[in-house]
Amino acid sequence: MATSNFLPFTRPAIDEATIAAVGDVLRSGWITSGPKVREFEAQLSALFGGRPVRALSSATGGMEIALALAGVEPDDEVITTPLSWVATANVVLRHGARPVFVDCDPRTRNIDLEKVEAAITPRTRAILPVDLAGLPVDRDRLYAIAKSHRLRVIEDAAQSMGASWAGRMIGSTGDLVSISFHANKNITSAEGGCLVLNNEDEARRCELWRLQGAEKRSESWDGMDVTLAGGKHNLTDLAACIGLGQLPHLAAFTARRRELARRYFARFDRALDCELPLEDYVQCNWHMFQVLLPEGAVRSVFMNCMREAGIGIGVHYPAMHLFTLYRKLGYAPGNFPHAERIGRSTVSLPMFPAMADTDVDRVIAALGPALSAAMAAGVPVAARNAAASVRS
Ligand SMILES: *Cc1c(COP(=O)(O)O)cnc(C)c1O
Repeated sequence: MATSNFLPFTRPAIDEATIAAVGDVLRSGWITSGPKVREFEAQLSALFGGRPVRALSSATGGMEIALALAGVEPDDEVITTPLSWVATANVVLRHGARPVFVDCDPRTRNIDLEKVEAAITPRTRAILPVDLAGLPVDRDRLYAIAKSHRLRVIEDAAQSMGASWAGRMIGSTGDLVSISFHANKNITSAEGGCLVLNNEDEARRCELWRLQGAEKRSESWDGMDVTLAGGKHNLTDLAACIGLGQLPHLAAFTARRRELARRYFARFDRALDCELPLEDYVQCNWHMFQVLLPEGAVRSVFMNCMREAGIGIGVHYPAMHLFTLYRKLGYAPGNFPHAERIGRSTVSLPMFPAMADTDVDRVIAALGPALSAAMAAGVPVAARNAAASVRS
């Protein structure tokens, strides 16, 4: 529905100063990686307690580079969650390694850390957790497991910008942390991401993986050498300029998302029998507000009804191991019951900082009728026929 008051499930908030600044970059004659990227990296590093940060064209690229930096080799295993955007496991496969899924905890919808140790084998090299919807995985427990089994951690913190664990912002602690600035994320550069690194040596190797492995050994290009087959993951100054315009709003964006989440909780009709997310206004950045529809509701019918009411709904995500690519690795329905149930029933309600309180109320008001329709559609055909014959 293209009406002007359609409420999408998310929308970036770019201010006019940023739009003007992008124009300045376009006019400057230098539009790809340059001073804006370096400034963006410096500001991100300051935000993350001074840790080295390198800006990239995506968080997917960040994870690919992180796998190389972590020394993950072909046939190594990387433990991860089946409930994420497919990038999380695709990067492991593309690297020639094997994603080993562990079911999620139905309370947090993140990887169940209590089940991780049972999945560790002599081939396990790393753990790749995801902070779904910006709710952080327990970093204390995660790093205790990693330490006792000498595993690297690659944090898929794509959704975690502005979230924190134990009072410290995600990115300011831990091993390799990959953050996304895709248009739908809490801070955006249209497309983009960054990788937070442990030390300057890792940062230098990240730069090689970022751009063709090319390094200058001296000031002239005669001194150029190529030491590894790096990729093409550099961010443009245009994108960095957008990111720079977003960073000053991070705290306010996160605070606003938390307010909206509070309003959803306060107004949600518990009789609808939906499963609400974990109620956390301290650590979670509320990247998404996701509820699980009751058993028997037909999600596509629910989504269509909401759309007809002028409200966009997202699905993040179907359980990954059920995709053809992963079934070919031997995964099958029933392997991860929690992820499968959540993947079947999850819907993302509108959540973005420019939303008004009344937008939440609009969503709340539309939920009841949409759910009734979704439940009616879920009644098995035989039961519907029986009901019809009783009526006739
Ligand atoms: C968005 C997202 C990614 C990918 O980020 P890009 O910057 O688009 O590559 C990976 N993992 C998760 C959990 C995401 O939400």
